Amino acid sequence: MTRAIYPGTFDPVTFGHLDIIKRSANLFDELIVGVLNNTSKSPLFSVEERVNMLKETTKDIATIRVESFRGLLVDFVKETDASVVVRGLRAITDFEYELQLAQTNHVLYPIVDTMFLTAKLEYSYLSSTIVREVATFGGDISKFVPEEIAIRMYDKCGITKL
Ligand code: ADP
Repeated sequence: MTRAIYPGTFDPVTFGHLDIIKRSANLFDELIVGVLNNTSKSPLFSVEERVNMLKETTKDIATIRVESFRGLLVDFVKETDASVVVRGLRAITDFEYELQLAQTNHVLYPIVDTMFLTAKLEYSYLSSTIVREVATFGGDISKFVPEEIAIRMYDKCGITKL
């Protein structure tokens, strides 16, 4: 049984994240989506809100669990008895940081390996930061996030959409 963890901030979850989640759910027996409870990043959504949004958008996939964690990713990997970390690669700009992270985690806990999935071409520009920026100014985010997430985004930003 291979258990993998897909960690991230997911502030909010986007179609890019959901694509990685669906594709990696097909590759492993169980996929844990790990929502980082990182106070230093001051996210727009609380960790509970981010967990709930992920649960809502992945409810049709039986082999997925959504959990929050704080602290080191390798400690969460150990606690959950996982052996693979999944990350998405959008562009060369992601590569340097991701390589460093993967190598550090492997040194800290040699059992764990990181597997990279390349972003789907149509989502390779997409980030949670872009979604937050567009939503703040009342722009159309329907191509970036599912409708239920868009509603929450506008609500959070105090934008009324007709
Ligand atoms: P972090 O704050 O750790 O970068 P994110 O929630 O932004 O967390 O992203 C989690 C993971 O999903 C990262 O590996 C990131 O590269 C990947 N990712 C983010 N957006 C996309 C996308 N549009 N397509 C594919 N992977 C993505």
